[in-house]
Amino acid sequence: MTHSCGHDHHAQAGAPSRRGFVQRAALGMGATLLTPALLATKAHAAGKVDALLLSCMDFRLMDNVERYMTGRGLRDKYDHIVLAGASLGAVTDKFPAWNKTFWEHLGVAIDLHHVNKVIVMDHRDCGAYKVILGSDFGKDAVAETQVHHETLNKLGATIKQRHPKLDVELLLMSLNGKVESFSRRA
Ligand SMILES: [Zn+2]
Repeated sequence: MTHSCGHDHHAQAGAPSRRGFVQRAALGMGATLLTPALLATKAHAAGKVDALLLSCMDFRLMDNVERYMTGRGLRDKYDHIVLAGASLGAVTDKFPAWNKTFWEHLGVAIDLHHVNKVIVMDHRDCGAYKVILGSDFGKDAVAETQVHHETLNKLGATIKQRHPKLDVELLLMSLNGKVESFSRRA
């Protein structure tokens, strides 16, 4: 079995090898943490997955998000970045470190897992939208839809600009788990 990271895996499936542990310990002190060798300590960690999901951190929706992805046949087949506000977290001027984190993680997902699609999932009644934009969009569904549409499109366009080969899906989840799509092809 070949591994896309180029790192040979002597460990049995499951537990990382002692050699892996020593490598990780050696990397811990000065080396960049996000190296393929570090991330690929589990045999399946360097495989291919279809998609990268960006969602909000909101605790209320974690089960809905998982159920939605499972319903699409993507259970255990997607990388997952969590930023407060989802698309807004990736584009807001207020938290440049979050923007950077998104792009760096997307880069790692492409390099390591060859993702070919980014699924961006915002949600209604989002506290991060409220805090970052200073307005309670949850009280006006039309304005809320509009601001998510704009922010999702802004991130979607930037993803396509930086990574033209990636497909991008733009989604908005309601608190009941229902998902609307803003993508041209859903
Ligand atoms: Zn949120």
